[in-house]
Amino acid sequence: MFDTLFKNARLFDGERFFSGSLAVKAGKIAAIGDPAPENAAQVIDCAGLTLTPGLIDAHLHFAGVSEIDADPALACLPYGVTAAVDAGGAGENTLEACGVLRRRPIGAKYFLNVCSAGFSSLRAYPENVDPARWQEDRIALLFERYPEALCGLKIRMGRECAADTRPVAEAVRLARSLSTRLMVHVSDPAMPAGEIADLLGEGDIFTHTYQGRGNGILLADGTVDPRVREARERGVLFDVGDAHVHFAFSVFRRAAGEGFFPDTAGSDVTDRGLCAPGAFSLPVVLSKLVTLGMDEAAALRAATSRPAEIFGFSGGRLRVGADADLAVFAVLSGVGSFTDSAGERIPANYLLSPRLTMRRGALVWRSVEWMG
Ligand SMILES: [Zn+2]
Repeated sequence: MFDTLFKNARLFDGERFFSGSLAVKAGKIAAIGDPAPENAAQVIDCAGLTLTPGLIDAHLHFAGVSEIDADPALACLPYGVTAAVDAGGAGENTLEACGVLRRRPIGAKYFLNVCSAGFSSLRAYPENVDPARWQEDRIALLFERYPEALCGLKIRMGRECAADTRPVAEAVRLARSLSTRLMVHVSDPAMPAGEIADLLGEGDIFTHTYQGRGNGILLADGTVDPRVREARERGVLFDVGDAHVHFAFSVFRRAAGEGFFPDTAGSDVTDRGLCAPGAFSLPVVLSKLVTLGMDEAAALRAATSRPAEIFGFSGGRLRVGADADLAVFAVLSGVGSFTDSAGERIPANYLLSPRLTMRRGALVWRSVEWMG
């Protein structure tokens, strides 16, 4: 006897689409395919709907110790998101205050900010990225203490933080000494984005890839900076980090025209982004990417299997025996529009509209529009 059977679904298993059913028992995926047995306590008809692994947001702010943090339940569960990475809200002085091992309503991992106080002062003044201020011994201690919860170091390289590339070079050195990765916020930096990309290595993450203010991934002639391309060839990963203010359709179109698509589709949702137009959830980001021409399966991979393998989450794929972290969406077209940081508005040709979220076999959210 299964606990829940999702039938007649368009399934996305983390790689590809196919039609069928999926059964859940004792919090795990128990069967996938067609036909699945009908003996389930609860049967949910997904005709016309798409069932995916619970989405994984590679760039969210929820640690609870930064001035920009959103409530993770509110930012994730109504949007089919069952796991997320906090992008550096906490530094060594605040990580334990955020309850790094605390049970969350989602699977959670954390980037540790190189700056002691993380983003706790962000609304008042930018964090101090001077490497002379970093408490490297204490940072190393935390990586020893929380090897599962911590997934890398974080530094911001906007012009409000850094006038030259020395902090990012030092952060790369520190990350290597800890055998971890670095995530770098590259939005309106004081130097060409290619100079920052030049310093990164395999597994490091360049976020806000398609931002359109000042120095970005495009050269003056509109082509992708060869240093950015070379970084990708070395294994540097590129995240969207949308947050509305860090995403320009014109930059994405140019980059996409050269096949430069993101590895991960991080939303960069904060408390202010939570209900703001433009980028208030991961499905909105994915919908923009597909509307702008990214392949649908590739976009979904950037929010499921790809972040799972990068950050070591157990989900991200539909697999028998895996935790039943699942999301159901209606795929709509011709509904509403998207805007970007430059004020451009485009019709939403593709819109992932959440219907249901399951975490470890429990229904944790469902749309009032759809009783199943
Ligand atoms: Zn962010």
